[in-house]
Amino acid sequence: MSTQHPAYGWSLFADWAASWGRSALPAAHDDLVQFLVECPASRDVQVRRLREIIAAHREHGLPITAPTLTGERDHLWRDAKGLLDPQGSIAQAPKYRFPVGLVGRRDGFLLAVTGVLGFSREAARAIEGQDVQVTPGTVVIAGRRMAMEGAAATCPACAAARWLATIAPSAQRGRATYAAILDPTVAEPEEHDCLEPVGNDWKTGVPLLPSIDRWGALGTGESLSARAISTIVAARRIDTGFKEKVGAVVRSGGRFEHSSSAELAEAQDEVFDEVDRINREIEALLAEASGMRDHIDGFGDVPR
Ligand SMILES: [Zn+2]
Repeated sequence: MSTQHPAYGWSLFADWAASWGRSALPAAHDDLVQFLVECPASRDVQVRRLREIIAAHREHGLPITAPTLTGERDHLWRDAKGLLDPQGSIAQAPKYRFPVGLVGRRDGFLLAVTGVLGFSREAARAIEGQDVQVTPGTVVIAGRRMAMEGAAATCPACAAARWLATIAPSAQRGRATYAAILDPTVAEPEEHDCLEPVGNDWKTGVPLLPSIDRWGALGTGESLSARAISTIVAARRIDTGFKEKVGAVVRSGGRFEHSSSAELAEAQDEVFDEVDRINREIEALLAEASGMRDHIDGFGDVPR
């Protein structure tokens, strides 16, 4: 049922070890430390990666000395049943059509920055154009690096590059600006967007995490609030099984095919209300579950 990537952390580590000519099985303590430093992520994601690496060693009857993680537990990316990991949530966010694709692209950037790079909400809000360097296949933000990884749909560098290529200066922000870039009929979902040029518009002092209203208008002032970031991340992590239809799209004749903008906006509002409700439920569940999660199999020496 869950679309979380099985043992994603293990395969990431195995790839990392192979690229440095290090042994993944068994893994040396210092190599594990270096891996965690060079592949930053939120604390819960790092915990999950270590669990998977430990499980792989157990499976092969090999001993392992896992490093001790320090730092704050992360509220945004706590693991819980039914919640997607960063890559899964990036894959599920829509990338085409106005305005859902515009919102989905901004959220993909947010998911990559908080989930894959481990930025706090405040650190994410503070990101400016000058903090970001893009080269083909790599996006570096304030010294933290995302490289091309896995399939295009789940690639965090793609998620960042796609948004940078989309975001436009305030003077240009209108539906027409995005028409070509959000056109689902010309999408090539198998291709890595992180290998394509991202242009310069995002460097011109625009907030990189703006609010976007229901009609697709971008806020020009402050970044998203910390609370909005929590809500967006929680909503995007809910496994809905959504799969975007792109390519030579045949009209589906679906529920909203002939709906007016107002009707669509209303339907979207209902979704947001539902998301708010689910978010509150999740927070309550997490508060309840946090006591049980103090015993993580394999490295009980992790400070809490
Ligand atoms: Zn990519």
